[in-house]
Amino acid sequence: MKTERQISSGGVIFRRNPPSIPPLKKGGQGGIEVALIAVKEGKVWCLPKGLRENGEGIARTAHREVKEETGLDGKIIKLIDHIQYFYAHKEAEETKRFFKIVYFFLMECTGGDVANHDDEVNDCRWFPIDEAIRLVEYKDEKEILKKAKRMIEG
Ligand code: ATP
Repeated sequence: MKTERQISSGGVIFRRNPPSIPPLKKGGQGGIEVALIAVKEGKVWCLPKGLRENGEGIARTAHREVKEETGLDGKIIKLIDHIQYFYAHKEAEETKRFFKIVYFFLMECTGGDVANHDDEVNDCRWFPIDEAIRLVEYKDEKEILKKAKRMIEG
């Protein structure tokens, strides 16, 4: 079976919970929150991302996909790392195999509202970063979030 390569890009978009806003959790004042999306009937929480379009740079893809999927605008800070995985997709009689590379960028939220998330995702919410690390489905995305946390905390 032939394996098709795909390049995707996405982001860890964060905000600092300002003291004027009640913290989501006890002790969360001034903490870092990140936006996650829910897919697969709301059962799987993951980072926003999507396929690169023709001629697009990976940072531009990350900015566009994060905006589309979460409803949030973000300023790109820097590349966190990339992950890669294989998956199979069945279409009619044919099963296709893909090898996907996903680049994740650290992005600081500059505006927008998670209420305006894409209809194609089931939900989008802000979570304290430690809760997001626990909640995300894929192990490699947990590592991306841990790296992002270290970058934000300096
Ligand atoms: P995109 O958001 O890039 O447009 P998509 O929703 O079409 O993508 P993926 O999110 O890559 O595709 O999902 C395709 C398959 O890969 C699904 O079965 C999903 O469960 C699996 N998958 C997604 N992310 C990971 C990961 N980090 N590690 C392993 N498998 C993953």
